[in-house]
Amino acid sequence: LKSDRESMFILNEFANEFFKNSLHNTIEGQTVALSYFRHRGIRPETMQKFQLGYAPEERSALSDEALRKGFKTEYLVGTGLSLQYEDSKGLHDRFRGRVIFPIQTVSGKVVGFGGRIMAKKDKVAKYVNSPESIIYSKSRELYGLFLAKKEIARKDKCFLVEGYTDVISMHQSGIENVVSSSGTALTLQQINQIHRFTSNITVLYDGDAAGIKAALRGINLLLEQGLHVKVVLLPDGEDPDSFARNHTAAEFEEYIEKHETDFIRFKTQLFLEDMMRDPIRRAQLITDIIGSIALIPDDITRRVYVQETCQTLSMDEQLLAREVQKMRLRGT
Ligand code: ATP
Ligand code: MN
Ligand code: MN
Ligand code: MN
Repeated sequence: LKSDRESMFILNEFANEFFKNSLHNTIEGQTVALSYFRHRGIRPETMQKFQLGYAPEERSALSDEALRKGFKTEYLVGTGLSLQYEDSKGLHDRFRGRVIFPIQTVSGKVVGFGGRIMAKKDKVAKYVNSPESIIYSKSRELYGLFLAKKEIARKDKCFLVEGYTDVISMHQSGIENVVSSSGTALTLQQINQIHRFTSNITVLYDGDAAGIKAALRGINLLLEQGLHVKVVLLPDGEDPDSFARNHTAAEFEEYIEKHETDFIRFKTQLFLEDMMRDPIRRAQLITDIIGSIALIPDDITRRVYVQETCQTLSMDEQLLAREVQKMRLRGT
C-alpha cells in the first residue's frame, strides 16, 4: 500500500505531464501559452529542461482527467491541485489559464507548482502557487536547486535570485548555478540546503527598492551561517531575466564580475549618503552595519571587516571593534 506522501508525488507527476501536454499538444496551449514563452525568449530546450507547462482555462480540466484516471479527491485537494467549494459540486482546478512552473526538491521530485497569468489583469494575482502540504514546505524548497546543484558545487558558488523566470533566463545565458527563493525571504532551511554545495552566495536581486530591501533582509541570516555573501545590484527596473534578455551572455557575465560587491561593503556604501542626513541617522546605520559584522562567526573575517568599515566611515577602530564585541556578547 502506498503512503499518502507517495500518492501525492505520483499525482504531482501526473499533473506535471498533464500541464506539459496541455502546453505542447493542445491548440489552446500552443496559441496562448507556447507563444507567451516564445515571446519571452524562452527556447524549446529550456522549456523541456524546466518542464514548463500550461493549465487550461477550463474549470476542472485537470481534476476531471485525474479522477478519470483513478486519483483520489483526497490527494487532489491535499496537493492543492484541486479546490473544493462548499456551495458547488465537484472539484475546481487551482491553476487555470496560467503557464506552469513545476517546483522540484533537491532530488527532483515535483512537490508543487507556480502558475503565472499571461496578460496583466486587474485584481488577479500574477502568480499563484501550490499551498503547503505534507510533501511541500515553502520554507525548505529553492526553485531550480535540482538543476543547479552540480554547477553550484563545480563553481563553488551559488547565485540567488527572486523569481522563476530569473532562474530560467540565467540558465539560457549559460549561468546554471542559480536558485530562487520565489519572492520570499530566505529561510534557515533554504540556506542549509545551499550550504551543502557551497559557502559562496551572490545575491542578484531586482534593481528596484523592493529588491534592495529584500536583499538586505535576507543577508544577515546568511552571514550568521558563515556564508560569504556578495551582492550584485542590477540597473533600476531590471531583474536578471530582463537583463539577460537585453544583453548577450558575455555582457551579463561581465556585468556580474564588475558589480559583484562584498555584502558588508555594499551595505556601507549604500548607507553612506543617507548617513550625511543627520547624526541620529548616522548612528542608526552604523549600528546596523555593526550588527551584521557581529553575526560573522569567523574571528579573523570579522576583524578584517571591522578594519575596512572603520576606514570607510572614518571611525576609530578600537571603538568599532568594542561595539562589535558587545553586540556578540549581547545578541544572537
Ligand atoms: P515575471 O518576470 O514573470 O513578471 P518575476 O519573477 O520577475 O516574474 P516578481 O514580481 O519580480 O516576478 O516576483 C518575484 C517572484 O516572487 C516570482 O517569481 C514569484 O515566485 C513570486 N511572486 C510574485 N508575485 C507573487 C504573487 N502574487 N503570489 C505569489 N508569489 C509571487
Ligand atoms: Mn521585483
Ligand atoms: Mn522580477
Ligand atoms: Mn521578471
